[in-house]
Amino acid sequence: MNLHPDVAVLARYADGDPGLDEASVWSVESHLESCADCRARLAEHTPDDVHELLALVSAGVDRGIATGPAPTPRRRVSRRRFEVTLAPWLTMTAAVLGCAALLHGLYPDLPSLVLLLAPVAPLPGVAVSWNRRTDPAWEVVAGTPRAGLGMLLRCTAVVLAVVIPVLAVAGARTGAPMAVLLTPCLAFTAASIALGTVIGVRRAAAGLAAMWAVAVVAPSLATAQVPALLQPGGTAAWAVAAVAAAGFTVARADRFRRLTSGN
Ligand SMILES: [Zn+2]
Repeated sequence: MNLHPDVAVLARYADGDPGLDEASVWSVESHLESCADCRARLAEHTPDDVHELLALVSAGVDRGIATGPAPTPRRRVSRRRFEVTLAPWLTMTAAVLGCAALLHGLYPDLPSLVLLLAPVAPLPGVAVSWNRRTDPAWEVVAGTPRAGLGMLLRCTAVVLAVVIPVLAVAGARTGAPMAVLLTPCLAFTAASIALGTVIGVRRAAAGLAAMWAVAVVAPSLATAQVPALLQPGGTAAWAVAAVAAAGFTVARADRFRRLTSGN
């Protein structure tokens, strides 16, 4: 701040002197951003025709703002974002749970697929809600002040608001208490976000879903036994896991603000 550029350098910068090396141009520009005195000095050195051009551009921008279309209301943008990214995945999740409920009617001796799929049901929606591959406006969204964990949690809330009622309806025939359906579902959702701070939400959700399928769903279908993890006695452990994952996520919330977080 106290190292003002030399007046001669400022004058050459104002004239657009091609002989001024890039390092000097950069240092002048970065200094000008924070020094009003030098901006005033620069204005004195600026040729009249540049002043005229700037006035013309400024008037043009003002005119464009005054006569242009009104900004798109935020509500419409977020609704469109929801339609583009989440709606197809939530529809698919609801369809899969519906099929699982139908299969339970056809094969009542097997453990309910609704019960087995409940923990991972929100994961496809969570995986696409903050994902550069599925959202065409991802970089724009990432650059907004509200991006990051807050936005991911809002999208996750939308996913859960759709998935939980579907689970309640589909699970009504399983005979399992709602807590047995819900606590693993919340724990897996929280875990995928927590793990997402390390390896990206998409990879975390896919990994957890694959692990669950291999370690729990396949063996319980093969043995026709409801796994111990999904017995009513396990809900407290699931709740503790959900809270632990949420705490871990809050501690690493800033990871969701980086474009390179691998989501
Ligand atoms: Zn200065």
